[in-house]
Amino acid sequence: MASNNSRNFDFVIVGAGPAGLTAGIVAARQGFKVGILEKGGQAGPKPRGEGMGHYDIVDDILGKDYLPSIGIKSNGGRVWHSPRNQQITTTFREYPHYFFEWRTFIDRFVERANEVGVEILLESEVIEPIEKNGFCAGVKYQEKSININEVYGKAIIDCSGYSGVIGRHYGVPYDEEINCPIVKCLISEANIDIKETPDLNFFFIGNGDLDHSPDFPPCVGYIFPLEGKRVEVGLMLRMAQVPQMRTVKIPTNDEIMMVWGNLKKSYPGFNEFFKGARIDYEEVTYLPNARMVKNFVPYPGVVLIGDSAGFVNPFGSSGLYYSMEMAQFWVKNIAKKMKEGENVWSSEKIEDYNTLFENYAVYKEVKGLYNLIGAFEYKIFNRLRTAEKINRKWDYISALLKQAS
Ligand SMILES: Cc1cc2nc3c(=O)[nH]c(=O)nc-3n(C[C@H](O)[C@H](O)[C@H](O)COP(=O)(O)OP(=O)(O)OC[C@H]3O[C@@H](n4cnc5c(N)ncnc54)[C@H](O)[C@@H]3O)c2cc1C
Repeated sequence: MASNNSRNFDFVIVGAGPAGLTAGIVAARQGFKVGILEKGGQAGPKPRGEGMGHYDIVDDILGKDYLPSIGIKSNGGRVWHSPRNQQITTTFREYPHYFFEWRTFIDRFVERANEVGVEILLESEVIEPIEKNGFCAGVKYQEKSININEVYGKAIIDCSGYSGVIGRHYGVPYDEEINCPIVKCLISEANIDIKETPDLNFFFIGNGDLDHSPDFPPCVGYIFPLEGKRVEVGLMLRMAQVPQMRTVKIPTNDEIMMVWGNLKKSYPGFNEFFKGARIDYEEVTYLPNARMVKNFVPYPGVVLIGDSAGFVNPFGSSGLYYSMEMAQFWVKNIAKKMKEGENVWSSEKIEDYNTLFENYAVYKEVKGLYNLIGAFEYKIFNRLRTAEKINRKWDYISALLKQAS
């Protein structure tokens, strides 16, 4: 049903995850009128990352020392298991990194957004952009699965995560080239004593390593001890090399869950953690970490931020931090031009934003990580590929892991 009550904001933000809420807070603090459209009945309806470093931006957005107040400090240890758990390498990096509960984390963003007057429209699913005179002037959205409404803004910020609703409209190949499936699972009563096993554990599984699914993509099982016997576990499928690998078939979600079920039951070392455990949450979702998008501004008027830009740590951690940094960076720069009363979306301005971003230390860090992890994955998952070969070269792989830590 179409309705006629269109609204106007300075910034229209799609998605109330960490990127969208940061973007909203930064813009509203500068006096701009901000509307965030969120498809869920609450901000960030589904849990995603639940661990991050204590960076300055986290204090700035959520309040000084809020993160340590809700988090459990990581000890900085990482244990890397070779295929079939035949060899183990431990690396250590001491840095202030905390684990927390997603809902507590997101609710704090919402509290801070409300304080500065950001309007969050829940149950508002954005469907498509609205173009006027060669630039994107707003979005169409469906409210409470019934009414179709429109909102207009001087800048449209797509923070809709891996589903990238606006980026997709402008041809970003999320499914084919950017998104990697990941199983997110939270367990309690795990077979673990966090005092004895406080490290993060990663299990490398090469292509051809699983008897029950020999053409499954290379993947990494992970275990993040949270507190007591509560643990986040999961499986990251590593898709960056897959287009070049003839031995891999792209799995359906049912196949992923079948493989996941077998890993929990019988994968050496990994299965130990599940004995007697209770599954509290378990789902296949996506992490856009095969590569970044090529254009952060896919059309004048729109910028892609956070997961919708593939702006994450390609290994799978730090997406929270990077999405917050990216949101702050772009909103500050666009806001500056808006305040100067300029045409914010001329081709020269878009070039300026891109150049500034490409010279920004955080962008360089993410790009460097994509290069580093890309080269690492090429070597182990494409060139070596099988459990036998990866195990034979484990000394060399260990040296690379130690170098990168
Ligand atoms: C299993 C898993 C584990 C992870 N672990 C970590 C970790 O330990 N540390 C870390 O830093 N990062 C981690 N990450 C990555 C991190 O969660 C993401 O990088 C981060 O959430 C990105 O924030 P975002 O706001 O860009 O996207 P999201 O958090 O995905 O938020 C997007 C929002 O947009 C909404 N939305 C989607 N489509 C529409 C639409 N059409 N209309 C309106 N709203 C819409 C969604 O409902 C959601 O609220 C993990 C991710 C996963 C999946």
